[in-house]
Amino acid sequence: MTPGLLGPAEVRDLAELLDVTPTKKLGQNFVHDANTVRRIVRVGAVQAGDTVVEVGPGLGSLTLGLLEAGAHVVAVEIDGRLAAQLPATVAAQLGAEAAARLTVVHQDALTVESLPGEPTRLVANLPYNVSVPVLLHLLEKVPSLRSGVVMVQAEVGERLAAGPGSKVYGSPSVKAAWYGSWRTAGNVSRQVFWPVPNVDSILVAFEKGEAPGDEALRRRVFAVVDAAFQQRRKMLRQSLSGVFGGSAEASAALESVGAAPTARGEELDVEAFVRVAGRLS
Ligand code: SAM
Repeated sequence: MTPGLLGPAEVRDLAELLDVTPTKKLGQNFVHDANTVRRIVRVGAVQAGDTVVEVGPGLGSLTLGLLEAGAHVVAVEIDGRLAAQLPATVAAQLGAEAAARLTVVHQDALTVESLPGEPTRLVANLPYNVSVPVLLHLLEKVPSLRSGVVMVQAEVGERLAAGPGSKVYGSPSVKAAWYGSWRTAGNVSRQVFWPVPNVDSILVAFEKGEAPGDEALRRRVFAVVDAAFQQRRKMLRQSLSGVFGGSAEASAALESVGAAPTARGEELDVEAFVRVAGRLS
């Protein structure tokens, strides 16, 4: 294999070596384009010496880009064959010094309770079917995270970055906004993946902000948000009647925070949801 980042030939050779048939269930679409990898690293503003968490390193395409930039990488991979091969791939492609900056965690990212090295950035080409749960889980469990960039399905990325009033604004938009500010950062061609996925991809960058409240309030806000968006077309006083113990109570809670009882979930920003949830005992 040619040293450095992985191209199509290296991705094919590694898959053959490991006898990997990519599975849809684990969202295994591997990037085989060095320009895309360097672009993600650039959008993620990764600096030498940073500690970065990468979810789903796969065959190592993005991991190598992060290590090439001088970062320490904590790579969380659910697939045992891929996790076991990664250190050898890094040593062969970038050498022993880079391999020493890699920590592999063989685990389902959804079960992570903490990570070594207090990572400050998240940079990942996320498995599509669990991208939002993985993102929210890590933001909750890894308080050292300050910023990041993730590649996700285009519709999901637009949702994460949407504000109130947008057609795609929904529960993931409000929950993401709890943690900070989000922006889309460009589309990625399907052709840079093997196998070629049947959905479009987009980069989404985030900066953590000051959380609007503690863990207890976060849970209440997320419960209110889930109820508010369960049936998009319903008025909030109806959709929140369950969490408030009746439609009159829900109306009173909405009015007390300056929101019309006839409003729908898509009209409220995260601060408004925080005020509504604050009325829950
Ligand atoms: N980062 C690699 C790349 O860009 O080529 C691979 C990205 S691929 C879209 C997603 C990766 O996430 C796969 O390696 C898959 O095995 C892994 N994965 C899927 N579900 C996971 C989970 N719950 N926790 C950790 N890794 C997971």
